[in-house]
Amino acid sequence: AAKGGGRGRFRFYSSELLQAAEDRRVLEEDLRDALAKDQIWLAYQPVVDAKTNVVTGFEALIRWNHPERGNISPALFIPIAEETNLIGELGEWALQKACEQAATWPGRLRVAVNVSPIQFANDLLPKLIEGALSTSGLSPDRLELEITEGVFLQESSDTDAMFQALKKIGVRLALDDFGTGYSSLGYLRTAPFDKIKIDQSFVRTATEPGSRDGAIIAAIVALADALDMDTTAEGIESLDQLAMIRDLNVSHVQGYVYSQAVSNEVLLERLQAGEWSISPSGPAVT
Ligand code: C2E
Ligand code: MG
Ligand code: MG
Ligand code: MG
Repeated sequence: AAKGGGRGRFRFYSSELLQAAEDRRVLEEDLRDALAKDQIWLAYQPVVDAKTNVVTGFEALIRWNHPERGNISPALFIPIAEETNLIGELGEWALQKACEQAATWPGRLRVAVNVSPIQFANDLLPKLIEGALSTSGLSPDRLELEITEGVFLQESSDTDAMFQALKKIGVRLALDDFGTGYSSLGYLRTAPFDKIKIDQSFVRTATEPGSRDGAIIAAIVALADALDMDTTAEGIESLDQLAMIRDLNVSHVQGYVYSQAVSNEVLLERLQAGEWSISPSGPAVT
């Protein structure tokens, strides 16, 4: 403890830590019943073709409506779920729900579901996906799994075998949050990704003077093109960012400039109202 702070200071810090641990324990307890209590739902954010402005699909983003604390960010509760085995149940629920809801969408709209590295290390994942596809009737090419490079750090699992099993089912695979973490190009040598999602941190500062983000995004797009993969830029908030990203030939865009993630009901309403075009002849996304 700092001089002059004495024992009081030390006790202050340690009680804060205790409080944080206690908060987390309570949250974990609450999360255990959240599914059964109907507090968990999926929100959907449109994924838009950068050239045509047409919506090609939606990313499913999990939401927790806590009775006392309101909406809790998945950035907070997914890590807790991953450390406590709850991710298996949550992940299975999300896959099933996303397939069921996407099966009711018009046209060939895709749904992208985030899959935790922990789920990816589970041999039962292909069976689970096949189950969700067959009970919902969704065709496999309409399901895209978003995984992060975290899957390559799970030493225990046979990542290659899992990739092959998933490709055999016919689902699409996207590498999420590319450019953060350790982003080894080695992953791209063998992993059969259909899409690279450029992390929103590159978009955030791309339009600032002197920024190197544009050059990096251009290089990622060139790499993806050469490997015959699509690209999505995430987190586009302004029209300036959108214009720049389009100039860089990124194939798909996602961000608040189009829409935040919305409930399945609102999604269907907006499609119905023609606010979100799903064909090139329709009105542009507004
Ligand atoms: P992610 O998969 O990279 O999702 C993108 C995040 O960026 C989402 O946050 C989305 O709401 C947010 N976002 C989208 N457009 C914009 C924008 O224009 N500006 C800004 N500032 N943010 C934008 P969200 O929903 O809070 O999710 C955070 C993370 O939680 C996700 O990152 C994903 O890693 C994880 N997650 C969400 N749902 C699931 C799930 O069902 N399963 C698993 N395993 N993880 C999930
Ligand atoms: Mg994602
Ligand atoms: Mg992402
Ligand atoms: Mg992210």
